[in-house]
Order: sequence, then C-alpha cells, then structure tokens
Amino acid sequence: MADGLYQRYMKAAAEYRTHAAQCRTCTQARRCTDGQRLFESFARLQDAYLAQQRRPRG
Ligand SMILES: [Zn+2]
Repeated sequence: MADGLYQRYMKAAAEYRTHAAQCRTCTQARRCTDGQRLFESFARLQDAYLAQQRRPRG
C-alpha cells in the first residue's frame, strides 16, 4: 500500500537521522557499518516512494 511505503520511508529517514546525530563515526562523506545500512535502507525507500509519486494517476 502507498501509505505503508510512505510510513516505512519516514521511519527509515528518522532512524538514519537519529543514528547520524548520535554516531561519532558518521559524517557527510563517510558512514560506519550501521550508518551505511540505515542510509541504504532509507535511500531505497526514498527512491521507491519518489518513483511512485512521479507515476501518473488515473
Ligand atoms: Zn554511524
């Protein structure tokens, strides 16, 4: 469902931001293993969500 995808996208974004804010290893240019995993999950959901938004309706 579209709502489910959006919720997962927002959750992944929040999880990544929370990690990046607390992690001393993660920077703009470099991420730790956990940070990379969270970022990839977030990026994948973001791509899927944005692709869905671009799709013509109706
Ligand atoms: Zn990190």
